[in-house]
Amino acid sequence: MKTEVISTARREDAGTTIGAELIQNGELVAFPTETVYGLGANGLDGEAVNRIFEAKGRPNDNPLILHIAKKSDVKDLWAHVPKIANTLMDTFWPGPLTMIFNKADEVPYEVTAGLETVAIRMPSDKTARLLIQKAGVPIAAPSANRSGRPSPTTAKHVLDDMDGRIPLILDGGPCRYGVESTVLSLVGEPTILRPGAITREMLEAVIGPVRLAPSILEPLGAREVAASPGMKYKHYAPDADVHVIEGEPKAAAKRIRSLYYEYESEGKRVAILGTDQTMPSYRNLTAYSLGDRMEPETLCANLFTLLRDVGSENDVILAEGVDTRETGLAFMNRLLRAAGFQRETV
Ligand code: AMP
Ligand code: MG
Repeated sequence: MKTEVISTARREDAGTTIGAELIQNGELVAFPTETVYGLGANGLDGEAVNRIFEAKGRPNDNPLILHIAKKSDVKDLWAHVPKIANTLMDTFWPGPLTMIFNKADEVPYEVTAGLETVAIRMPSDKTARLLIQKAGVPIAAPSANRSGRPSPTTAKHVLDDMDGRIPLILDGGPCRYGVESTVLSLVGEPTILRPGAITREMLEAVIGPVRLAPSILEPLGAREVAASPGMKYKHYAPDADVHVIEGEPKAAAKRIRSLYYEYESEGKRVAILGTDQTMPSYRNLTAYSLGDRMEPETLCANLFTLLRDVGSENDVILAEGVDTRETGLAFMNRLLRAAGFQRETV
């Protein structure tokens, strides 16, 4: 299959029309969102949804998110709409917040991986919304990477993973946030299953206490697998082996320097992912800044791109950990998984 790439800067109307036809015909389309690129199919067509799992090599017990173009569409997809969801929709939609609640009968089990709940989000990205509107159905979409790889934040990343596997990629340029949506379960007490750009602090300001799933900064415990099956798989792994060094920035940078020389003496190609604040400590070494540690959203925006690009040219990546407040939590959740939890604190 030939994979066509259409730039939305030049041909947004034509691109979304062609994409919507493909979706209606049960085919797959990769499209930009404000978080990462999604790999979409008709969310009401179980057979079309199965193609997503095939193209990604995704285990079929890992559920997908349904993307909608208008808030009222949740009524057809959830068994009913809880009051708290209305409050959250009014505050955070369109945007990078996914909510989980009991599914309506119309939602195929292929989307939910057999669960009785379904995850729904209304993206703010204009191209994504136009595509969903024109398709006239909710679009089921996980991230558009091969399973286990870092999520794609540019059309080139999607092409690297999906060339020949899907008919169309809509290229909308780099994604604004660079990490996937916050996933909030509204079944029982509100619980964040996956942190994102809509932070626990932002949610609590609107609805009061929000729990964090324990696995956010730890490997998944057996009891949690049932509630969030997708989290048990290897995630975001680049080609290189990643080690995370946490602690006071100067001390962490010192430890990273010494690890760098150790790996280098073993003949390994080593690179550092530091922050603007610590870059002076890495003079003469191969080092890249993830961004400003006081503004963790900058770290989120650069993480997957650097993991892919730096990972493909090195054997080992030494990465700095940061505080887990606000969007620092989303950053550390992705980084620790990319590292397979190889971490040390100085
Ligand atoms: P992706 O967009 O590739 O990150 O995949 C969607 C994410 O949402 C996965 O981590 C899923 O485990 C999670 N998810 C989707 N639906 C549900 C659900 N019904 N219950 C729990 N987690 C879900
Ligand atoms: Mg994913």
